[in-house]
Order: sequence, then structure tokens, then C-alpha cells
Amino acid sequence: MRRAVAGPALAVVFTGLASNAHADADPGLLAAVDAAARGIEPQVIAWRRDIHAHPELSNRETRTAALVASELRRLGLEVRSEVAHTGVVGVLHGSRPGPVVALRADMDALPVSEAVDLPFASKSRTTYRGREVGVMHACGHDAHTAILLGVAEVLAGVRDALPGSVVFLFQPAEEGPPPGEQGGARLMLAEGALRDPSPDAVFALHVVPQHAAGQIAVRAGGAMASSDGLTIQVRGRQTHAAYPWLGVDPIAVASRIVLALQAIPGRQVDARHPAIVSIGAIHGGVRGNIIPDDVELLGTIRSLEPSQRGAIHERVRRTVKGIAESAGATAEVEIHDGYPVTYNDPKLTARMLPTLRRVAGADNVVEGLPRTGAEDFAFFAQEAPGLYFWLGIRPPDVPEAEAAPNHSPLFFVDEDALGLGVRALASLAVDFLAHGSSRAVGATRPGSVRLSPVAPAPWLPRAPR
Ligand SMILES: [Zn+2]
Ligand SMILES: [Zn+2]
Repeated sequence: MRRAVAGPALAVVFTGLASNAHADADPGLLAAVDAAARGIEPQVIAWRRDIHAHPELSNRETRTAALVASELRRLGLEVRSEVAHTGVVGVLHGSRPGPVVALRADMDALPVSEAVDLPFASKSRTTYRGREVGVMHACGHDAHTAILLGVAEVLAGVRDALPGSVVFLFQPAEEGPPPGEQGGARLMLAEGALRDPSPDAVFALHVVPQHAAGQIAVRAGGAMASSDGLTIQVRGRQTHAAYPWLGVDPIAVASRIVLALQAIPGRQVDARHPAIVSIGAIHGGVRGNIIPDDVELLGTIRSLEPSQRGAIHERVRRTVKGIAESAGATAEVEIHDGYPVTYNDPKLTARMLPTLRRVAGADNVVEGLPRTGAEDFAFFAQEAPGLYFWLGIRPPDVPEAEAAPNHSPLFFVDEDALGLGVRALASLAVDFLAHGSSRAVGATRPGSVRLSPVAPAPWLPRAPR
């Protein structure tokens, strides 16, 4: 289900926010959550190190899932395991009726050999696509899983004061299932992860080294791009390369297609919403003096604005067909729907921003730049208004330019950041439930959370880049 996206997303980024238009939960409850979150920090770090030392590839997260399920059962949650192969869904019912909020963490690691010198560094190896590879939590999903376990423990401790329910989604295969398998958020949804109860809002975080530990970055509207695969088959007619007029040259046609596709984001898409069309592979021909019959192009299409995704696809098809036709060739275009735009509901973002500012300190919450990578969370955020934010994990004394990016064998998490992650997610849940319960949010879902009117407020400071 795709929700209609109202208004220009990027234009409302952080305008329309007011810290005093926000109904916080009871101060006593928030103080209890804060204290419990600080108390659980050593355990969160211990979980994270254990998971880090035992990383598992997408759809193979059996050890991690068993740990998660056993901890959630210990806390008295309703637990479903083996959702989408290895996913775990826990439900915490507060003592009073109210809305439902879902929190998501991903659990999978990557085929990367760890090069960080840590006592708990991964030594794991496995086989991936027929090759022996190292396995490493090089995207920080170990931190996400540990943080969400911490949040579960904190919220279970205050369940008597909670109005509503919290759904904990521990997701496999965020990085994508192995070839030939299904998995991830889409499969969790197909298996009913967000049915009974269905959430009124869904939150998640991702650790990033672009921001220092202690910082949170957030962005309303398109935060991560949609990602769709592109396959183009250009068919000409084979001939001697010295007599091109006797055939139809698909290499020349493919070359013009590659260049013309670059002009779509620049000339045919609203320039206020970044988009990318990239060709990453070209296959055609066997030697220099033969013009071949066919050329295959493989690429990817990215967009940060849900309403433009389809329009870009249509322009790609039109451009390819037009160029092929003009040369007397034919072309088939296949666009494989991948991940949707990770879209932060602007009203939900505005509503929850004061919570993030409260837990991190106002100066430590900055406007994040949109990212042209994709995120599986986007599927969950199509089911209910979503908010996905970035948690800084760079040691403060390391300059941004020197921090290893996600997926690097040198990716490093400053564990001082984990406590803020727990407090942020736990407080978002508690504030959302408290606010929703006073406004009967549960009666209007999904995608139509009632919101208090908000007044304009200044833009957030940008992170130094
Ligand atoms: Zn990743
Ligand atoms: Zn990741």
C-alpha cells in the first residue's frame, strides 16, 4: 500500500516545527525511561559485542535471532520467531489501551573480512555465492539489534504506565537476501509482521560515521532513495564492422542510450528532488571487426521523491525506445521494482523532533542530508507513517573524512553512542503513545495519525561537512 504523499516533501523539511506544540509523556515516566536506559547501557554494549563477534549473513541470522527471541521472552513479551526465515517480532502490551508503535532493528551482517583490531572482532568465515568470505557487522546492524533489545528491556520495565502497545521488529536480510531467496521487510510484511496489532507509526535508526557519537541527524520527506533495477536489451543486426550500413549497430545505439539516460535527472525531473540513473554494466560483442546483434545494459534508478519514481521510469522507457527506433534497432526495457523511497512522514517528523532534541540536546540534532542508498525500512514506512533517523557513531576525535564508511572492513562504532540510541527510540515510543492516547490516534490509522497544529520554527543547524 502506498500512501498518498501530500505536498512538496523537501520544502517542509524542518519548517513547521514547534517544540511547545508537542505533548510529551508524563515527566515521571520519561524520567524513569531515561534512568532505565542509562542503567541498561553496559548490557547493550555486552549484547553488541557478542553479536559483533558472531555475525551472520542475510537470511542466516539464526544465532542472533535465538538470542533476540530468548531475551524478549525473558521480558514477558509475546514473541513470534521465524518470521521471514529468521525474523523475530515481539509485542509489548502496556497496561492501558492506546495506540500501537513499531520499532525496527535489522540483524544481518555482510561478506566483509573485519580489519579492525578489537578483542571482539569477527573471525567468522562462510561461503557466499560459491566463494569463501569473511563475515562482519560492517553496517552496524549489531548495534541496532543491541539497542532495540535495550529499548525492549526499558519499556518492559515501565509497561504498567504505558498506554498502548509496542511492536519490536527484528528484521533479517536488510542488505538483501541471497540470490534466489526472498527475505527482508517485504517478506515480513507478507507474513503478517504488522498485522494484529497494526502500528500507527514506525520508527528506526541507522548508525553512521558521518556524524559524531552523541549526534542525531534527521530529515523529513525522502531520506533514503528508492532503488530499482534496470535491464535494457538493444537488438540490432550483426555485420562486418567495416560495412556498418549492411547491419544495425547496437553498440552505437547503446552508447547514445547511456548518454541520454544521464540527461533524464538533469533535464526531465524536478531538480529540487535528486534522482540518479546509472548504467553499471554493458555486455556486447566479441571482437573489434564484428558489429554484434545485441547489447545488454544493466543499471539502477534512484529517486528521493515517491511521486517522481514512476515518472522517471516512464522517461527511461521513452528515451530508450526513441533512440533505438531512430536507428532502426529495437530495445526492451525492464525495470525491476526494488526498494521504495524511505520517506519520513513530515508531520510525524515535526511531531517527534522535540523528543529527539530532548534526549540528545537541541544542538546535537541536525538536519541530515538525503542519501541515495536504499533502505528496507521503506516497506514498513509504507504501512504506517514512518520516521528513520541517523545515529552518529564516529569517535569525536576522528575527523569525518578519516572515518571508515558503512560496509568498509574498517567500519567502527563508538559504543558511547549506543545509550543515546536506546534513549531516543524508547522516548519516541513513549512520547508517541502518550500523545496518541490523548488524541485517539488508534481510531484513525493507518496513515492518518491525528496531529496537533504546528507553528513555524527555525531550521536546524546543519552538521558540519
Ligand atoms: Zn548496509
Ligand atoms: Zn545498514
